[in-house]
Amino acid sequence: MTIAPFLKSEFAQAENIPTDLYIGGEWVPGSEGKRIDVLDPSTGKVIATVADATVEDALKCVDAAAAAAAGWAATPPRKRAEILRKAFELMVARSEEFARLISLENGKSLPDARGEVAYAAEFFRWFSEEAVRINGDIGLSPSGANRIVVQYQPMGIALLITPWNFPAAMATRKIGPALAAGCTCILKPATETPLTAYAMAALLEEAGVPKGVVNVYTSSKAGATSGAILSDRRVRKLSFTGSTAVGKILLKAAAENVISCSMELGGNAPFVVFDDADLEAALDGAMIAKMRNGGEACTAANRFYVQEGIYDAFVKGLTERMKKLELGAGYAETTQLGPVINTAALERIHGLVKDATSRGARVTTGGEPLARDGYFFPATVLDGVPADAELMNDEIFGPLAPVTKFKTEEEAIKAANDTEYGLISYVYTQDLARGFRVAEKIESGMVGLNRGLASDPAAPFGGVKQSGLGREGSHHGILEFLEAKYIAVTW
Ligand code: NAP
Repeated sequence: MTIAPFLKSEFAQAENIPTDLYIGGEWVPGSEGKRIDVLDPSTGKVIATVADATVEDALKCVDAAAAAAAGWAATPPRKRAEILRKAFELMVARSEEFARLISLENGKSLPDARGEVAYAAEFFRWFSEEAVRINGDIGLSPSGANRIVVQYQPMGIALLITPWNFPAAMATRKIGPALAAGCTCILKPATETPLTAYAMAALLEEAGVPKGVVNVYTSSKAGATSGAILSDRRVRKLSFTGSTAVGKILLKAAAENVISCSMELGGNAPFVVFDDADLEAALDGAMIAKMRNGGEACTAANRFYVQEGIYDAFVKGLTERMKKLELGAGYAETTQLGPVINTAALERIHGLVKDATSRGARVTTGGEPLARDGYFFPATVLDGVPADAELMNDEIFGPLAPVTKFKTEEEAIKAANDTEYGLISYVYTQDLARGFRVAEKIESGMVGLNRGLASDPAAPFGGVKQSGLGREGSHHGILEFLEAKYIAVTW
């Protein structure tokens, strides 16, 4: 099956997307015949159903990936590169259809969805270029007795588990390097956003990916199915993007067979604005860092720390900008802020606002969910938020911007580091010496210095502390799927 009928349609019609499991290059129903509802967060209505895989189906994915493994590992790097390049070209050619599909099942606005598709496609291009640059080393041992030859080999079968917030980009950021490295894989997308993953499987087939090299399954039993896959000794790699809580469960499961793990987990990004910052640039950056994807991003600014001299102007400017955002169905052309993903997220966000105001924070805009179908929460700014408010200590994952005041650089760094997370931080100052000094002291894998957006397929993406292990994108990304083999040789 290909994605052709869907691509011909004017608007992404969910019923034209393949919705069965993709195993060994075949579209097959789940062995128990059960289905999972996929909802439109803009209306709360069912738009499609997808197959619900059992443990038996999950293990069939391992069989298919195992059957294809030797052939794919032996496929010349240039050939693997050309297939990935073709996938990039197909995705770019169909970017509008993918964007509409993402908006439909995830709820994000079309500009955000278009941005995601462009970002997602770049991982296919980047890793098509990396596939032909897997170089080893050769050296002489210090004793002079032998040569040290190091070569890189594919790790083997990889399980790739992705979240709902970037249904295309989180998949390509893993499939790209896995395929470039010569690994076969099993993708398990989030239950809320499976359609993009199945559309991508169809695209990869069209690009020339051989049967069994990429397998995709959806399941209402994420723990049992992934647990069974990780218990199969043929599986050697787990690449996970999602919450820290689920990451910890998976790390324990992967420990049993000592499986290599790459973990892209939650964040709690500080956004620090010094008195000497360019206010307009800081506000532009704040809107991107906070509101890209409606705040549903691991990189989303979670806590705004603003120095006392610029504080009032920043809160006023942020409030004005947030107020102007047009809330609506993600796929409506004029929408700037779509719904959140589901009822639970809506209730959680509302609870965070109530908790913050009960501790003395002041809402300057937004603050209450909309009384309409779908899961709509307006862009909200909270002024004077105390450090013990829940939303300062956990991922918000929604359109809330809590702002708090600081006096000194040391105070800002201490507050920024006062979290178990360490994915990304943002710093605004026109004093570059200060910028670098603070960037070096902040405990995070990435820093946006006078930038509200840092994600780039050519840069190493990842966190420290409980935000994760390993890096995606850049040359680091392919190394996560390669083993270094050392051969001692005398000649
Ligand atoms: P999640 O609840 O952790 O789910 C992520 C994936 O894990 C989904 O496919 C989910 O499947 C699966 N899963 C859930 N429970 C599982 C279990 N017990 N065993 C195996 N798999 C399980 O996260 P989410 O709500 O989808 O996404 C939001 C989170 O992702 C946030 O914490 C965000 O920061 C993080 N994130 C991190 C990055 C990064 O690069 N660091 C990027 C994007 C998002 P089901 O959908 O079927 O439950």
